[in-house]
Amino acid sequence: MDFAPDEEHALLRGAVAGVVGRFGHGYFVSEARRGGNAGDLWSELAALGFVGVNIPAEYGGGGRGLVELAIVEEECAAGGCPLLMLLVSPAICGSVIARYGTDEQKDRWLPGLASGADKMAFAITEPDAGSNSHRISTTATPYGGGWRLRGAKYYISGVDDAAHMLVVARTGVDERTGRGELSLFVVDTDAAGLSRVQIPVELVATERQYSLWFDDVEVGPDRLVGPVGGALRPLFDGLNPERILSAALLNGIGRYALERAAAYARDRRVWDTPIGAHQGIAHPLAEAAVHVELARLMTDKAAWLYDTRADAAEASNMAKFAAADAAAMALDRAIQTHGGNGMATEFGLSTMWGMARLLRIAPVSREMILNFVAQHTLGLPRSY
Ligand SMILES: Cc1cc2nc3c(=O)[nH]c(=O)nc-3n(C[C@H](O)[C@H](O)[C@H](O)COP(=O)(O)OP(=O)(O)OC[C@H]3O[C@@H](n4cnc5c(N)ncnc54)[C@H](O)[C@@H]3O)c2cc1C
Repeated sequence: MDFAPDEEHALLRGAVAGVVGRFGHGYFVSEARRGGNAGDLWSELAALGFVGVNIPAEYGGGGRGLVELAIVEEECAAGGCPLLMLLVSPAICGSVIARYGTDEQKDRWLPGLASGADKMAFAITEPDAGSNSHRISTTATPYGGGWRLRGAKYYISGVDDAAHMLVVARTGVDERTGRGELSLFVVDTDAAGLSRVQIPVELVATERQYSLWFDDVEVGPDRLVGPVGGALRPLFDGLNPERILSAALLNGIGRYALERAAAYARDRRVWDTPIGAHQGIAHPLAEAAVHVELARLMTDKAAWLYDTRADAAEASNMAKFAAADAAAMALDRAIQTHGGNGMATEFGLSTMWGMARLLRIAPVSREMILNFVAQHTLGLPRSY
């Protein structure tokens, strides 16, 4: 066991923090409010190889793994710029295509994801299925040598900012269990038959969410990623990275909140001492700092397990759960520490609340994580 800081990781952290520090939370909020995509920040991070750090080197990526991509995401969020698109494009889509794509698919999609010039959205959630992915009803049926997709998805992030998306569709039903057999397809976001409507959400983010309708959207045979009807394995190999990156983003928010709270509590005097001298202020922040650090440790473990191709499901779920609770705790207490200023746009705390709160629900809710841990870690009966 070696917890000594890795020099290369420290350099990566510093370099990302340096770039993000030149933009800051004010930039992020103004981009989100004008409907922008933080394109200048994305381009700078991409030009330095940070966006594609986990994509294999032979496709132009950094040839590193999720440990490094998680560092990039944590530093972005810690600098006030939590980028959901990193969870989706390099983490889910990049990981799935790198592990399950054909050579031709890797040649075609990975260089763009590696350079950051292309972004890929990810679409699994459906109005009638929700957390029960086995029940998704978007179908892909064989047609003219390729496939034809029909159905609806909702809350799909970044579709307006991505040229393609990785879509989960049902290609059959398992006779024995009655569950859908799932497959993965790369679909162009401007494909004929695909329509979208933005869903208004109370979230300060540089990605927008959409309802999507697939009305006989046709794709060629080359768009199927992984085996027909056998997407569960590739899917979980993509969803674990999403959970790890979500945890990293949340850990960054936790650090961001605590740094601001501590600075404010050191300076602000209401009686004769700084408010940080009151244990009513100091202990809640110290407790949150413990939880953020524990979540960071679990996130490192989950990313390491994923990168070493070990089973990362339990650790990824636990890391996301712990990080979501820790970030919400840290941010709420940072807001409390600021008194009325906690609500002011200028202090940049309430503008992070939607993001921290979202990640207790998405990409997998805390209840579904507890279901997983109860069943797989504790061996309890499945309750649903
Ligand atoms: C801003 C935003 C961005 C998103 N981006 C994407 C995206 O890019 N791509 C994508 O595919 N999806 C995306 N999502 C969807 C997100 O992953 C889902 O909202 C999430 O998985 C929960 O599904 P649901 O909303 O249908 O809730 P439901 O499944 O309806 O759940 C509602 C509540 O019931 C609880 N619940 C359900 N089943 C059980 C059970 N068995 N036991 C205990 N509790 C249970 C849940 O935990 C939750 O609290 C996004 C959502 C939001 C809000």
